Amino acid sequence: MKIIAMIPARYGASRFPGKLMQDLGGKPVIVRTYEAAKETELFDEVYVVTDSDVIFQEIEMNGGKAIMSKKEHDCGSDRIAEAVEFMDVDIVVNVQGDEPFTSKEGLEQVLRVFDGPDAEKIDLASLMTEIHDWKEISDPNCVKVIVDKESFALYFSRSPIPYPRDKNAAMQYYKHKGIYAFRKQAILDFYRLPMRSLEAVEKIECIRYLEYGKNIKMAISNTQGIEIDTPEDLVRANKVLKESKKETVNNKYRNFPMVPKVVFGQGCFDQLSSILAPQRKDKAPFIFLVDKVFKKEQALIDRINLRFNDKLIFVSSEEEPKTTQVDQIVKDIKAEFTFKPSGIIGIGGGTILDLAKAVSIMLTNKGSAADYQGWDLVKTKAVYHVGVPTISGTGAEVSRTTVLTGPVKKLGINSDFTPFDQVILDPDLTVGVPKNQWFYTGMDCFIHCVESLNGTFLNAFSQSYGEKAYDLCMEIFVGEELSEEESRGKLMMASWHGGMSIAYSQVGVAHAMSYGLSYVLGTKHGIGNCIVFDHLEEFYPKDVILFKKMVKKHQVEIPKNLCSNLSEEQLETMIDIALSLVPLWENALGDNWETIMTREKLKALYLKM
Ligand code: NAD
Ligand code: ZN
Repeated sequence: MKIIAMIPARYGASRFPGKLMQDLGGKPVIVRTYEAAKETELFDEVYVVTDSDVIFQEIEMNGGKAIMSKKEHDCGSDRIAEAVEFMDVDIVVNVQGDEPFTSKEGLEQVLRVFDGPDAEKIDLASLMTEIHDWKEISDPNCVKVIVDKESFALYFSRSPIPYPRDKNAAMQYYKHKGIYAFRKQAILDFYRLPMRSLEAVEKIECIRYLEYGKNIKMAISNTQGIEIDTPEDLVRANKVLKESKKETVNNKYRNFPMVPKVVFGQGCFDQLSSILAPQRKDKAPFIFLVDKVFKKEQALIDRINLRFNDKLIFVSSEEEPKTTQVDQIVKDIKAEFTFKPSGIIGIGGGTILDLAKAVSIMLTNKGSAADYQGWDLVKTKAVYHVGVPTISGTGAEVSRTTVLTGPVKKLGINSDFTPFDQVILDPDLTVGVPKNQWFYTGMDCFIHCVESLNGTFLNAFSQSYGEKAYDLCMEIFVGEELSEEESRGKLMMASWHGGMSIAYSQVGVAHAMSYGLSYVLGTKHGIGNCIVFDHLEEFYPKDVILFKKMVKKHQVEIPKNLCSNLSEEQLETMIDIALSLVPLWENALGDNWETIMTREKLKALYLKM
C-alpha cells in the first residue's frame, strides 16, 4: 500500500494572514510542519501543495517537495484532489499546514484503521479527541462528531451533539481533528461532487462525504498539538519549541549587511551625478523616485541632472507605501524600458526611501511585493539603489527593511538585499520640512532609541549607536544651544545611528501599536508613534515625561481620540496586527510578554488614544 502525506498550504488564510510563513524558531511554520511529517517515517512521500510561489520556493529551498496547484480551490481537499489525480497512490493523508507539531501517534491511529477487519468498508478515516469542558463543547469553532458503535461517523456539527437534555448525563463528547486518511477514490469523488446543503450551512467540509453516503471511520487520539490560528498561538508554539530546543532558536548572532557607501555634508547632493556615472550600464536608465513635494523646486530638480533616457517619477508620500504601489511602479518601468534600469534613486522621506528599496528588489524578483513581506524571503539581488533622505528620523536610509502595507498585513521586506548600495546625506535637503513633520519624524528616531535601549535584546553594539542617537536627540529637541544648521546635520546623524541601533535589537511597544493604528486608520508612522508613545508611561516612564516636555517646548499638536469611535471589528484588527509583531513584544517585555500585554490591556490602551 502506497501512503503519501499532502499538506495543503494556502497563503492568505483568513483569520491570521500569512501565518504559514510566520517565523517559528527560525523557520517558517510550513517548513516545520513539513519536517515533522517527514520525521514520522509513516509516508512514502510528503508533499506541500500550494497556491503560493513563496511557499513553493521555501519548501523546495529546504529540500522538500512542493506542488503548485493550477486552479483556484475552495478548500484543502480540492487542492489535494487536483494534485493526486494522476499519482499512483492508495492512501492520501492530509496534514494541516498550520499544525507544526502534528503528532506521530495521531497519524498512526488514523492509518491503523486500514489494517482492521472492516477496512474494505472505509472510504476515509479521521481523528477525534475527547473534550470535557462545556465551554469547548458549546463553542461553534470547535467541531463535534458523533459515531456509531463501529466508530463510523454519524454526523459532524458546530452545535453540541448530542444535545444533553439532562445536563448531568454522562456523555463523552468528541472534537473533530482535521486530519484525514483518504482512499484515493474518495478524495477524487469529493472533488467532483457538488456541495450540498448540510455542508454549506455548517461550513464543515467532511459532511459532504456523509451526504453522499461515504463511510468515515473515526480513530481516537488524545495527544494535543498546537494549531496556529492566531498570533497568540504562534507565541505559544515558539515557546514550546524554545523549550524543546533551547540552543537553536535564539537570534543571538545576526550577520547583517550595512550600507557600503555613504557621503555626508552640506551640499554633497551635487555629487550625485559623479557617484552614479560608474554605475551606468549602456542604454539602461536611472530611475529617480522623487517626493512630489519637490515638483515645483526646479533648482533641486536641475541638480539631479537627468541624462540620456533617465526617468524622473514624482511620487506622493501622502500615504504609507503599499505593495500594490510598488507592483505598479515596477510594471510601468518594465513596460517603458526593455533594459533593466541601471539603478533606482529615492529622494524623499521614509516613504520614498522605502519605495525605492522595494522597487529595486521587485525589478529582479518575480511576483508581487506582498510575497516578500517578512524575513529573508528575497532570493535575488536587487538592482543598484541609492537613498537620498530629505527629512531625518526614520533610519530608513540605513535599515535592512522596507515597510509596506500589503493586502493582508503591514510588514517590511526584511532582507540582505534591502539596504541601499549608496546613501547621500545632505542636511541642506531638509531645510523646507514643515515644523510638525520635522518633529514627528524626529520623534521616530527618539522612540527607536528608547525602545532599543530599554529592550531585552540590547547588546553593546546596539547600545553604542542607541546612546549616541539619544544624546543627539536631547541636544536637538531639548537643548537650546544649536543653530538650525547644526541641528539639521545632527538630526541626520541621529537618524542614522537610531537605525543602526535597531539593526541589532528591535523596536518595542510604541511601534507595535503604531503599526496597528496605521493598518486600520492609515495613520502615518511618525505621528502614529507620537500618538501611541504619549500614553506609554507605564513602559517607558522617564522618556514619556521627556517626550511630553518636547511636545510642549516645540508647541506640536498630538492628535487625540482616534480610537474612541472605532467599531469592535476595527479594534480587534488593530489588536491582531499589533500582537502579530512578536519580536517587538519580546524585545519590549521579555519572553513572558503575553502575560503582560493581553488583548484586554491592549484594547484599554488603544481606547485612550
Ligand atoms: P514621509 O516620507 O512620509 O514624509 C513626510 C512628509 O514630509 C511628506 O508630506 C513629505 O512630502 C514631506 N517632506 C519630506 N521631505 C521634505 C522636505 N525636504 N521639504 C518639505 N517637505 C518634505 O515621512 P517619514 O517620516 O520620513 O517616513 C515615514 C515612512 O517611513 C513610513 O512609511 C514608515 O513606515 C517608514 N519607515 C521606514 C523605516 C525603515 O527602516 N525602512 C523605519 C521607520 C519608518
Ligand atoms: Zn520607526
